[in-house]
Amino acid sequence: DRIIAAGATREDEALEASIRPKRLDEYLGQVPVREQMKIYIEAAKARGEALDHVLIFGPPGLGKTTLSHVIANELGVGLRQTSGPVIEKAGDLAALLTNLQPHDVLFVDEIHRLSPVVEEVLYPAMEDYQIDIMIGEGPAARSIKLDLPPFTLIGATTRAGLLTAPLRDRFGIVQRLEFYSAEELTRIVRRSAQILGIQCDADGAAEIARRSRGTPRIANRLLRRVRDFAQVRAGGVITSEVADGAMAMLKVDPQGFDELDRRMLSTIIDAFDGGPVGVESLAAALSEERGTLEDVIEPYLIQQGYLIRTARGRMATQKAYRHLGLTPRRDATA
Ligand code: ADP
Repeated sequence: DRIIAAGATREDEALEASIRPKRLDEYLGQVPVREQMKIYIEAAKARGEALDHVLIFGPPGLGKTTLSHVIANELGVGLRQTSGPVIEKAGDLAALLTNLQPHDVLFVDEIHRLSPVVEEVLYPAMEDYQIDIMIGEGPAARSIKLDLPPFTLIGATTRAGLLTAPLRDRFGIVQRLEFYSAEELTRIVRRSAQILGIQCDADGAAEIARRSRGTPRIANRLLRRVRDFAQVRAGGVITSEVADGAMAMLKVDPQGFDELDRRMLSTIIDAFDGGPVGVESLAAALSEERGTLEDVIEPYLIQQGYLIRTARGRMATQKAYRHLGLTPRRDATA
Protein backbone atom coordinates (compact mmCIF):
# COMPACT_ATOMS: atom_id res chain seq x y z
CA ASP A 1 0.00 0.00 0.00
CA ARG A 2 1.03 3.54 -0.62
CA ILE A 3 2.48 4.99 2.59
CA ILE A 4 1.43 8.46 1.53
CA ALA A 5 -1.99 7.37 0.29
CA ALA A 6 -4.41 10.08 1.28
CA GLY A 7 -7.30 7.68 1.88
CA ALA A 8 -7.89 6.27 5.36
CA THR A 9 -6.53 2.84 6.25
CA ARG A 10 -7.83 0.64 9.05
CA GLU A 11 -4.93 1.67 11.26
CA ASP A 12 -5.77 5.33 10.67
CA GLU A 13 -9.37 4.67 11.67
CA ALA A 14 -8.28 2.96 14.88
CA LEU A 15 -6.23 5.94 16.02
CA GLU A 16 -8.76 8.43 14.78
CA ALA A 17 -10.70 8.60 18.02
CA SER A 18 -7.72 9.84 20.02
CA ILE A 19 -6.14 12.29 17.61
CA ARG A 20 -9.05 13.73 15.68
CA PRO A 21 -9.65 17.32 16.84
CA LYS A 22 -13.00 17.78 18.56
CA ARG A 23 -13.24 21.56 18.91
CA LEU A 24 -12.63 24.41 16.51
CA ASP A 25 -9.57 25.62 18.39
CA GLU A 26 -7.94 22.20 18.02
CA TYR A 27 -8.65 22.25 14.29
CA LEU A 28 -5.29 23.63 13.17
CA GLY A 29 -4.68 25.54 9.94
CA GLN A 30 -7.53 26.38 7.50
CA VAL A 31 -7.71 29.77 9.19
CA PRO A 32 -10.36 31.42 6.96
CA VAL A 33 -12.60 28.35 7.16
CA ARG A 34 -12.27 28.18 10.91
CA GLU A 35 -13.01 31.87 11.41
CA GLN A 36 -16.05 31.82 9.16
CA MET A 37 -17.46 28.66 10.72
CA LYS A 38 -17.02 30.12 14.18
CA ILE A 39 -19.25 33.05 13.23
CA TYR A 40 -21.88 30.96 11.45
CA ILE A 41 -22.06 28.55 14.39
CA GLU A 42 -22.36 31.31 16.98
CA ALA A 43 -25.05 33.06 14.95
CA ALA A 44 -27.11 29.90 14.45
CA LYS A 45 -26.87 29.09 18.15
CA ALA A 46 -27.90 32.62 19.15
CA ARG A 47 -30.94 32.42 16.88
CA GLY A 48 -31.80 28.96 18.13
CA GLU A 49 -31.85 27.65 14.57
CA ALA A 50 -30.25 24.77 12.71
CA LEU A 51 -27.02 25.82 10.99
CA ASP A 52 -27.37 26.36 7.26
CA HIS A 53 -26.30 23.39 5.08
CA VAL A 54 -22.54 23.17 4.57
CA LEU A 55 -20.62 21.83 1.57
CA ILE A 56 -16.97 21.01 2.25
CA PHE A 57 -14.70 20.15 -0.61
CA GLY A 58 -11.03 19.32 -0.89
CA PRO A 59 -8.67 16.41 -1.57
CA PRO A 60 -8.79 13.32 0.70
CA GLY A 61 -7.21 13.56 4.15
CA LEU A 62 -7.47 17.34 4.56
CA GLY A 63 -10.05 17.23 7.33
CA LYS A 64 -13.55 17.20 5.84
CA THR A 65 -14.87 14.51 8.18
CA THR A 66 -13.05 16.08 11.11
CA LEU A 67 -14.54 19.49 10.40
CA SER A 68 -18.04 18.03 10.26
CA HIS A 69 -17.61 16.44 13.67
CA VAL A 70 -16.14 19.66 15.04
CA ILE A 71 -19.13 21.63 13.73
CA ALA A 72 -21.61 19.25 15.39
CA ASN A 73 -19.65 19.40 18.67
CA GLU A 74 -19.53 23.17 18.64
CA LEU A 75 -23.26 23.30 17.91
CA GLY A 76 -23.84 20.84 20.72
CA VAL A 77 -25.90 18.54 18.48
CA GLY A 78 -25.74 14.94 17.36
CA LEU A 79 -24.13 13.77 14.12
CA ARG A 80 -25.19 10.96 11.84
CA GLN A 81 -22.66 9.85 9.30
CA THR A 82 -23.25 8.20 5.95
CA SER A 83 -21.94 8.39 2.42
CA GLY A 84 -23.32 8.91 -1.07
CA PRO A 85 -22.92 5.37 -2.39
CA VAL A 86 -24.36 3.83 0.81
CA ILE A 87 -27.74 5.53 0.39
CA GLU A 88 -29.17 3.31 -2.31
CA LYS A 89 -32.87 4.05 -2.18
CA ALA A 90 -35.01 7.08 -1.47
CA GLY A 91 -36.34 5.17 1.55
CA ASP A 92 -32.82 4.87 3.04
CA LEU A 93 -32.50 8.62 3.03
CA ALA A 94 -36.02 9.09 4.39
CA ALA A 95 -35.19 6.78 7.29
CA LEU A 96 -32.05 8.74 8.12
CA LEU A 97 -33.80 12.09 7.92
CA THR A 98 -36.85 11.18 9.95
CA ASN A 99 -34.64 9.85 12.75
CA LEU A 100 -32.76 13.09 13.27
CA GLN A 101 -33.23 15.18 16.38
CA PRO A 102 -33.90 18.89 15.84
CA HIS A 103 -30.73 20.74 14.70
CA ASP A 104 -28.73 17.51 14.26
CA VAL A 105 -26.06 17.23 11.59
CA LEU A 106 -26.36 14.65 8.83
CA PHE A 107 -22.90 14.16 7.36
CA VAL A 108 -22.85 12.72 3.84
CA ASP A 109 -19.35 11.86 2.65
CA GLU A 110 -18.81 11.51 -1.11
CA ILE A 111 -22.03 13.38 -1.67
CA HIS A 112 -21.33 13.57 -5.41
CA ARG A 113 -22.07 9.85 -5.57
CA LEU A 114 -25.75 10.10 -4.55
CA SER A 115 -28.08 8.57 -7.10
CA PRO A 116 -30.36 11.01 -8.97
CA VAL A 117 -33.47 9.53 -7.29
CA VAL A 118 -32.03 10.07 -3.83
CA GLU A 119 -30.89 13.56 -4.77
CA GLU A 120 -34.48 14.45 -5.72
CA VAL A 121 -35.62 13.53 -2.23
CA LEU A 122 -32.90 15.66 -0.73
CA TYR A 123 -33.94 18.91 -2.43
CA PRO A 124 -37.22 19.57 -0.52
CA ALA A 125 -35.61 18.15 2.62
CA MET A 126 -32.87 20.75 2.43
CA GLU A 127 -35.13 23.59 1.37
CA ASP A 128 -38.30 23.13 3.41
CA TYR A 129 -37.45 20.32 5.85
CA GLN A 130 -40.02 18.18 4.08
CA ILE A 131 -39.93 14.96 2.13
CA ASP A 132 -42.40 13.38 -0.25
CA ILE A 133 -42.69 9.66 0.11
CA MET A 134 -44.70 7.25 -1.99
CA ILE A 135 -47.16 4.97 -0.26
CA GLY A 136 -48.54 1.90 -2.01
CA GLU A 137 -48.04 0.75 -5.57
CA GLY A 138 -49.68 0.97 -8.96
CA PRO A 139 -52.85 3.07 -9.42
CA ALA A 140 -53.40 3.26 -5.65
CA ALA A 141 -50.01 4.79 -5.04
CA ARG A 142 -50.01 8.25 -3.61
CA SER A 143 -47.39 10.54 -2.22
CA ILE A 144 -47.52 12.03 1.23
CA LYS A 145 -45.54 14.88 2.69
CA LEU A 146 -43.62 14.36 5.88
CA ASP A 147 -42.27 17.17 8.02
CA LEU A 148 -38.71 16.79 9.18
CA PRO A 149 -36.99 18.36 12.14
CA PRO A 150 -34.81 21.31 11.13
CA PHE A 151 -31.36 19.84 10.47
CA THR A 152 -28.01 20.64 8.93
CA LEU A 153 -26.74 18.67 5.99
CA ILE A 154 -22.97 18.63 5.71
CA GLY A 155 -21.80 17.24 2.40
CA ALA A 156 -18.19 16.38 1.62
CA THR A 157 -16.67 15.87 -1.79
CA THR A 158 -13.23 15.89 -3.33
CA ARG A 159 -14.18 18.38 -6.05
CA ALA A 160 -17.08 20.84 -6.08
CA GLY A 161 -17.32 20.37 -9.85
CA LEU A 162 -18.57 16.81 -9.36
CA LEU A 163 -21.87 18.02 -7.88
CA THR A 164 -24.97 18.76 -9.91
CA ALA A 165 -25.85 22.46 -9.97
CA PRO A 166 -29.23 22.08 -8.18
CA LEU A 167 -27.56 20.25 -5.31
CA ARG A 168 -24.68 22.69 -5.04
CA ASP A 169 -27.09 25.63 -5.02
CA ARG A 170 -28.87 24.31 -1.94
CA PHE A 171 -25.84 24.72 0.31
CA GLY A 172 -25.79 28.08 2.06
CA ILE A 173 -22.20 27.64 3.23
CA VAL A 174 -19.47 26.34 0.92
CA GLN A 175 -15.99 25.75 2.31
CA ARG A 176 -12.96 24.72 0.33
CA LEU A 177 -10.11 23.12 2.27
CA GLU A 178 -6.57 23.92 1.14
CA PHE A 179 -3.39 21.93 1.49
CA TYR A 180 -1.70 22.73 4.82
CA SER A 181 1.57 24.62 5.09
CA ALA A 182 4.64 22.88 6.55
CA GLU A 183 4.28 25.02 9.70
CA GLU A 184 0.66 23.99 10.19
CA LEU A 185 1.52 20.33 9.64
CA THR A 186 4.38 20.65 12.12
CA ARG A 187 1.88 21.74 14.75
CA ILE A 188 -0.40 18.85 13.83
CA VAL A 189 2.48 16.36 14.11
CA ARG A 190 3.52 17.76 17.49
CA ARG A 191 -0.03 17.60 18.78
CA SER A 192 -0.49 13.99 17.63
CA ALA A 193 2.92 12.99 19.03
CA GLN A 194 1.94 14.38 22.39
CA ILE A 195 -1.40 12.57 22.43
CA LEU A 196 0.17 9.28 21.35
CA GLY A 197 3.13 9.63 23.74
CA ILE A 198 5.71 9.77 20.97
CA GLN A 199 8.95 11.65 21.62
CA CYS A 200 9.56 13.91 18.68
CA ASP A 201 11.75 17.03 18.68
CA ALA A 202 10.95 20.20 16.73
CA ASP A 203 13.20 19.35 13.77
CA GLY A 204 11.88 15.83 13.60
CA ALA A 205 8.30 17.11 13.48
CA ALA A 206 9.24 19.64 10.80
CA GLU A 207 10.88 16.95 8.68
CA ILE A 208 7.76 14.77 8.84
CA ALA A 209 5.57 17.77 8.07
CA ARG A 210 7.58 18.74 5.00
CA ARG A 211 7.07 15.32 3.49
CA SER A 212 3.36 14.97 4.15
CA ARG A 213 2.01 16.37 0.90
CA GLY A 214 0.18 19.15 2.72
CA THR A 215 -2.14 16.51 4.22
CA PRO A 216 -2.79 15.87 7.95
CA ARG A 217 -3.77 12.24 7.42
CA ILE A 218 -0.42 11.54 5.77
CA ALA A 219 1.43 13.49 8.49
CA ASN A 220 -0.17 11.36 11.21
CA ARG A 221 0.62 8.16 9.34
CA LEU A 222 4.25 9.11 8.65
CA LEU A 223 4.61 10.00 12.33
CA ARG A 224 3.65 6.44 13.28
CA ARG A 225 5.98 4.85 10.73
CA VAL A 226 8.88 7.06 11.79
CA ARG A 227 8.15 6.17 15.39
CA ASP A 228 8.66 2.48 14.58
CA PHE A 229 11.94 3.33 12.97
CA ALA A 230 12.98 5.50 15.92
CA GLN A 231 12.09 2.77 18.39
CA VAL A 232 14.17 0.11 16.64
CA ARG A 233 17.10 2.21 15.43
CA ALA A 234 17.33 5.35 17.52
CA GLY A 235 16.26 4.85 21.12
CA GLY A 236 12.72 6.03 20.51
CA VAL A 237 13.30 9.72 19.89
CA ILE A 238 12.34 11.24 16.55
CA THR A 239 14.93 13.77 15.40
CA SER A 240 15.35 15.13 11.88
CA GLU A 241 18.06 12.52 11.14
CA VAL A 242 15.80 9.72 12.30
CA ALA A 243 12.92 11.09 10.23
CA ASP A 244 15.21 11.43 7.25
CA GLY A 245 16.44 7.84 7.54
CA ALA A 246 12.93 6.50 7.93
CA MET A 247 11.69 8.43 4.89
CA ALA A 248 14.52 7.09 2.77
CA MET A 249 13.49 3.60 3.77
CA LEU A 250 9.85 4.37 2.99
CA LYS A 251 10.94 5.86 -0.36
CA VAL A 252 9.28 9.18 0.38
CA ASP A 253 11.53 11.85 -1.15
CA PRO A 254 12.33 15.30 0.34
CA GLN A 255 9.32 16.82 -1.46
CA GLY A 256 7.08 14.17 0.05
CA PHE A 257 6.61 12.45 -3.31
CA ASP A 258 6.54 8.69 -3.51
CA GLU A 259 7.09 6.39 -6.47
CA LEU A 260 3.65 7.01 -7.89
CA ASP A 261 4.15 10.77 -7.95
CA ARG A 262 7.54 10.34 -9.57
CA ARG A 263 6.15 7.82 -12.01
CA MET A 264 3.40 10.22 -13.03
CA LEU A 265 5.91 12.98 -13.70
CA SER A 266 8.39 10.72 -15.48
CA THR A 267 5.65 9.19 -17.63
CA ILE A 268 4.52 12.63 -18.81
CA ILE A 269 8.12 13.52 -19.56
CA ASP A 270 9.37 10.26 -21.08
CA ALA A 271 6.32 8.79 -22.76
CA PHE A 272 4.58 12.03 -23.75
CA ASP A 273 7.52 14.36 -24.21
CA GLY A 274 6.44 16.53 -21.28
CA GLY A 275 2.82 16.82 -22.43
CA PRO A 276 0.22 17.98 -22.97
CA VAL A 277 -1.31 14.59 -22.38
CA GLY A 278 -4.98 13.84 -21.69
CA VAL A 279 -5.86 12.37 -18.33
CA GLU A 280 -7.28 9.19 -19.90
CA SER A 281 -4.06 8.41 -21.79
CA LEU A 282 -2.05 9.14 -18.68
CA ALA A 283 -4.22 6.90 -16.52
CA ALA A 284 -3.84 4.10 -19.07
CA ALA A 285 -0.06 4.51 -19.21
CA LEU A 286 0.16 4.39 -15.42
CA SER A 287 -2.45 1.63 -14.97
CA GLU A 288 -4.24 3.84 -12.47
CA GLU A 289 -7.82 5.01 -12.37
CA ARG A 290 -8.53 8.41 -13.78
CA GLY A 291 -10.27 9.43 -10.55
CA THR A 292 -7.17 8.56 -8.50
CA LEU A 293 -5.01 10.76 -10.69
CA GLU A 294 -7.48 13.63 -10.56
CA ASP A 295 -8.42 13.51 -6.90
CA VAL A 296 -5.41 12.11 -5.12
CA ILE A 297 -2.21 12.55 -7.09
CA GLU A 298 -2.34 15.61 -9.25
CA PRO A 299 -3.87 18.25 -6.94
CA TYR A 300 -0.71 18.39 -4.83
CA LEU A 301 1.64 18.22 -7.83
CA ILE A 302 -0.27 21.13 -9.38
CA GLN A 303 -0.35 23.13 -6.16
CA GLN A 304 3.40 22.69 -5.80
CA GLY A 305 4.05 23.74 -9.40
CA TYR A 306 5.28 20.43 -10.83
CA LEU A 307 2.36 19.99 -13.14
CA ILE A 308 -0.02 22.26 -14.97
CA ARG A 309 -3.45 21.50 -16.33
CA THR A 310 -4.18 23.02 -19.74
CA ALA A 311 -7.15 22.69 -22.06
CA ARG A 312 -5.17 20.08 -24.02
CA GLY A 313 -4.02 18.07 -21.02
CA ARG A 314 -1.37 17.84 -18.31
CA MET A 315 2.11 19.23 -18.79
CA ALA A 316 5.28 18.78 -16.75
CA THR A 317 6.94 22.03 -15.65
CA GLN A 318 10.67 22.76 -15.51
CA LYS A 319 10.50 22.00 -11.80
CA ALA A 320 9.33 18.47 -12.61
CA TYR A 321 12.23 17.87 -15.00
CA ARG A 322 14.72 19.13 -12.43
CA HIS A 323 13.16 17.08 -9.65
CA LEU A 324 13.87 13.98 -11.71
CA GLY A 325 17.39 15.15 -12.50
CA LEU A 326 16.58 15.93 -16.15
CA THR A 327 17.20 18.95 -18.36
CA PRO A 328 13.87 20.74 -18.96
CA ARG A 329 12.41 20.85 -22.44
CA ARG A 330 13.16 24.35 -23.72
CA ASP A 331 9.52 25.47 -23.87
CA ALA A 332 8.52 23.89 -20.55
CA THR A 333 6.67 26.23 -18.17
CA ALA A 334 8.82 27.50 -15.33
P1 ADP B 1 -11.08 13.77 5.03
O1 ADP B 1 -12.46 13.55 5.57
O2 ADP B 1 -10.95 15.11 4.33
O3 ADP B 1 -10.58 12.65 4.16
P2 ADP B 1 -10.30 13.55 7.81
O4 ADP B 1 -11.22 14.54 8.40
O5 ADP B 1 -10.63 12.10 8.00
O6 ADP B 1 -10.07 13.86 6.26
O7 ADP B 1 -8.85 13.86 8.42
C1 ADP B 1 -7.78 12.97 8.30
C2 ADP B 1 -6.91 13.01 9.55
O8 ADP B 1 -6.24 14.25 9.67
C3 ADP B 1 -7.62 12.81 10.85
O9 ADP B 1 -6.87 11.85 11.55
C4 ADP B 1 -7.55 14.07 11.62
O10 ADP B 1 -7.20 13.77 12.93
C5 ADP B 1 -6.44 14.83 10.96
N1 ADP B 1 -6.81 16.23 10.74
C6 ADP B 1 -7.58 16.68 9.72
N2 ADP B 1 -7.72 18.01 9.77
C7 ADP B 1 -7.03 18.43 10.85
C8 ADP B 1 -6.79 19.71 11.42
N3 ADP B 1 -7.29 20.82 10.86
N4 ADP B 1 -6.04 19.76 12.54
C9 ADP B 1 -5.52 18.64 13.07
N5 ADP B 1 -5.70 17.40 12.57
C10 ADP B 1 -6.45 17.29 11.47
